[in-house]
Amino acid sequence: MDRQQEFVLRTLEERDIRFVRLWFTDVLGTLKSVSVAPAELEAAFDEGIGFDGSAIEGFARIYESDMIAMPDPTTFQVFPFEGGSSGESARMFCDILMPDGTASWADPRHVLRRALSKAADKGFTFYTHPEIEFFLLEDGPIDGSVPIPVDAGGYFDHTTHAVARDFRRQAVLALERIGISVEFSHHEVAPGQQEIDLRYADALTTADNIMTFRHVMREVALTHGVRATFMPKPFTDQPGSGMHTHLSLFEGERNAFHDPADPHKLSKTAKAFIAGVLVHAREFTAVTNQWVNSYKRLFPQAIPDRITEAPAFVCWGHLNRSALVRVPAYGKPNSARVEVRSLDSATNPYLAFAVLLGAGLKGIEEGYELPPGAEDDVWSLSSAERRAMGYSALPENLSEAIEVMAGSELVAEVLGEHVFDFFLRNKRAEWEEYRPQVTPYERMKYLGAL
Ligand code: GLN
Ligand code: MG
Ligand code: MG
Ligand code: MG
Repeated sequence: MDRQQEFVLRTLEERDIRFVRLWFTDVLGTLKSVSVAPAELEAAFDEGIGFDGSAIEGFARIYESDMIAMPDPTTFQVFPFEGGSSGESARMFCDILMPDGTASWADPRHVLRRALSKAADKGFTFYTHPEIEFFLLEDGPIDGSVPIPVDAGGYFDHTTHAVARDFRRQAVLALERIGISVEFSHHEVAPGQQEIDLRYADALTTADNIMTFRHVMREVALTHGVRATFMPKPFTDQPGSGMHTHLSLFEGERNAFHDPADPHKLSKTAKAFIAGVLVHAREFTAVTNQWVNSYKRLFPQAIPDRITEAPAFVCWGHLNRSALVRVPAYGKPNSARVEVRSLDSATNPYLAFAVLLGAGLKGIEEGYELPPGAEDDVWSLSSAERRAMGYSALPENLSEAIEVMAGSELVAEVLGEHVFDFFLRNKRAEWEEYRPQVTPYERMKYLGAL
């Protein structure tokens, strides 16, 4: 037994914790959980916990379904605010193993670990920091009717909205108590919409933190009798929920994206990384924006008195919020980073970070040239102007995104054959299910026509 494992067992005993939740994530990004009693944990550290992989989305076919969840003691965390009368509870993330002890190719954590170790071979550590947007809605049935936001607030509004304000304060305190540092939190543009930005960390920790974040937000919402949703676009006439993510590569203690000699302080490494993200953006969009609904967000939409701010075209720019990749101004050299703005809040963070890193590393490996940055608001250009500038459009719907991804060697390599094939099959089925749906819009438009 190693020191981390001993620490976990000792903490459970000292704090009299009766339940430990073991967490892992399926291929679509759903959190899975199994509770074990502390007495079972010593054995679980040795042998893991067996489960039926064929019952988990994307994990296994029926004839090879025995799988093992192996708790990762470095992710052990006591949840002081959960557990009610039965005392505190705790959780650990798991790695998924096959019966012979090798890592499962279906485990999203493993997909990300593989991408990270490729970066490590080149001397890089990959850091990410997400800005997570989501809606708080009145509780109610999920039956297709239009939900009601808990407030009528707007961007950075402070005063009026009691639920949202108390919610954010409690949510941020809860996150801090379990070791997830929050940089900013504020009301977003749409009624009921919130944003909480997590402090940067290595990408595996960030992905674990995002899974934890979604769980904690839902729990805190429950205590207020409201619902937190990470659905990319719940309302036709309001902006959607993005998860802009800031990325950087470090070489040891040094930020490899920073170069004081460059006019924009961007290193060659940063430029090639951005170029990689741009070249492969259309191919990985099915991963960063994985639902039919994701594509209702991913374009600029004029709504009364403003425009929804989601990227639609493949380009980059300094400070340019209409670009897919924005390079923010920064002070300290170690804060050099690039912000990718397409991701939405319902992506699987492990897979999303893996494809972003894979694309950036490809740019570095192949020495891709970075095209000139976009200075203008690319949303207001005509399509002829955009073509002339060389800005291609992101996929317009899930069907297009899947077909572009299907032809991508890079995404196949980063996800591995198993996840790549499952993902395409699952998403094609989602599209086929959606395709015949007749929407309220169509009835409104055509029922009385002709
Ligand atoms: N909600 C916008 C999106 O969908 C982002 C708004 C913002 O943070 N500027 O990406
Ligand atoms: Mg923000
Ligand atoms: Mg925002
Ligand atoms: Mg942002």
